[in-house]
Amino acid sequence: MLEKFFREIGLTKGVHVIIHASFKKIHSVWRVNTPKEFLSALMNFIGENGSIMIPAFTYNFKKKDGTHPFFDKMNSISQTGILSQEFGKMPGVIRTSSQTHSFYLWGACQEISEFNNPKSPLGAHSPLEWLLKNDGTALLVGTDFTSFSFIHYLEIYFNLPWVNEFCWDENNVLPVGVTEDYETPLVEVPGCSKGFNNITNYLLNNRLIAITKYNGLDYHSIRLREFLQLTEGFFKNNFQNLLCNDTSCKCCQSRRQKLKMKVI
Ligand SMILES: [Zn+2]
Repeated sequence: MLEKFFREIGLTKGVHVIIHASFKKIHSVWRVNTPKEFLSALMNFIGENGSIMIPAFTYNFKKKDGTHPFFDKMNSISQTGILSQEFGKMPGVIRTSSQTHSFYLWGACQEISEFNNPKSPLGAHSPLEWLLKNDGTALLVGTDFTSFSFIHYLEIYFNLPWVNEFCWDENNVLPVGVTEDYETPLVEVPGCSKGFNNITNYLLNNRLIAITKYNGLDYHSIRLREFLQLTEGFFKNNFQNLLCNDTSCKCCQSRRQKLKMKVI
């Protein structure tokens, strides 16, 4: 059943794919009992010449008051969902070394070193860049664009005016990743993603994508190269819409100030 889904949404053997998915929703549609069942089916379908990449972000930033927990590659629990956590336990999966934005990797994408820890965690030299260069695909299942990390990559790619503004200052953190024995100074630290669904609306309104459902479950299967082309106009002319409308979001409010936009 899962194989049929993978085939019908355009995945093929040897594809390089990043997954953003809600296991709860996958379970409710397919009655898949464990994340492992879903992931094994995907691994079998894609094969080791392809790739599976899942964010395993832990946000281990240095705290101003020194109270930060350290990133520990073996033990730090991924904050990006149960599917990610379980993927990390599967045989043959490795984890990159970014203290804030590590990735679990399986298959051909392991040519990215497990020591990958770029100063721009989701920009140049990150696993997302590898995926774009290798004509990768993002699969979103039961999640929306707020979890689509590649949009952060595009913020940097299109050099949006705020990419070098660290916007988590108010949260007692610094743009530095921390492990017990070393620190990594960071640039282009990703900000808030709550406004990312405005890209979905832009694409739908301009009929560049359609709403895609499978057995009642929302999904998007997106070739990154194609997504970059489709959203170029948005990133050049409408990028302010990436900032969210939550008045308590200090990150987006500080970015508005930087742009001299009206603070909401
Ligand atoms: Zn925000």
